[in-house]
Amino acid sequence: MINIYLKRKISPRVPNGHPWIFNNEVEKIEGDVAGGEVAEVFTHDKKFVGRGYVNPKSQIIVRLLTRDKSTAINEKFFLDKLSDCWAYRNRIGYTENCRLVFGEADGLPQLIIDKFNDYFVIQTLALGIDVWKPAIVNALNTIFKPKGIYERNDVPVRELEGLPQQKGFLSDPFNTQITIHENGLKFHVDIENGQKTGYFLDQQDNRKAIRHIVKDAEVLGAFTYTGTFEIHAAHYGAKSVLGLDISANAVQQANRNAALNNVQDTCRFETANAFDLLKQWSKEGNRYDVVMLDPPAFTKSRETIQKAITGYKEINLRGMKLIRPGGFLVTSSCTSLVNPELFLQVIDMAAKDARRKIRQVTFQTQSGDHPVIWSMDNTQYLKFLIVQVL
Ligand code: SAH
Repeated sequence: MINIYLKRKISPRVPNGHPWIFNNEVEKIEGDVAGGEVAEVFTHDKKFVGRGYVNPKSQIIVRLLTRDKSTAINEKFFLDKLSDCWAYRNRIGYTENCRLVFGEADGLPQLIIDKFNDYFVIQTLALGIDVWKPAIVNALNTIFKPKGIYERNDVPVRELEGLPQQKGFLSDPFNTQITIHENGLKFHVDIENGQKTGYFLDQQDNRKAIRHIVKDAEVLGAFTYTGTFEIHAAHYGAKSVLGLDISANAVQQANRNAALNNVQDTCRFETANAFDLLKQWSKEGNRYDVVMLDPPAFTKSRETIQKAITGYKEINLRGMKLIRPGGFLVTSSCTSLVNPELFLQVIDMAAKDARRKIRQVTFQTQSGDHPVIWSMDNTQYLKFLIVQVL
């Protein structure tokens, strides 16, 4: 039994619903803590706060799993939580593919589960959740009877928790190249070697948002990965689509996806550094009706946030210069430290430098299967903006 007592003065974060407790907020620990156990947390005057998992090696010593005194943390807890997560996704309209569990936003800190029809990809990013992997797998088997479960724990952040990077099957082995459906299209997903969990589900609703503006358009997409936005553009009636990605493997997958959807005559993909090409082409006078940008996160730390801002400004400025008057810029940012207001400021600066007027068509965030919790800043991380460039 481990009991943890908080200091009298702690930030309002914990009372306001955030599940993280930092080392320097703890007054006293009763019991032996090795790491990975479930502890009971109390205020300085012994009022029950909740139950959570501990890791003394991490700056975040506790992550709360429940604030309900009668809820035990056991196999049933995970079965109930995963059932709730699935009921919620169904309720808001996600059936085939979705992020089934989005960590803190679902009350399961550091657990990510993506559902790709009958297949599941799991990430357990902290020690205290990693030890429950068998219970989580059992819960998935009970609720879904999946065709396969795969672990994509090949992520550096695990090392901060003293965990190894690893990937592999959590079910009988299966063919990890699967096909999913999205907005009436089909996409190959490489569960084993694709980026992150294999596919970016967070843009699934945003991909639909381009359907009117790409009609009859010449479209350029940069940071295309497996070509999802570009193939949507072709499907929605673009005249021609060119997609760029620095990864030859991504480009190969994008070409396969174009063929899978029968748009290989409209959609072309090239391996290239988008920073270089956008700059070169804007100088050479190439022009497009629609430019789409979806770069990877530019920073994860506050110290290098300026680098991220410079990066966003650069690609958006170049992107706008490439757009014919009246065309559209479709631009995203998944850097959680760049909040929505800051992102819009950067786009505004880019427009001023490009000497172009812009008008906002839509400003969105990640799809609803990645819930945003208002008291947790980093749950709203994706910015998706469409502007007309006049
Ligand atoms: N739009 C995609 C996701 C893009 S992820 C989707 O919806 O699925 C970001 C992509 O940017 C990755 O595939 C990565 O290989 C690519 N990338 C990173 N740096 C790049 C660069 N300098 N030039 C071009 N592509 C780059």
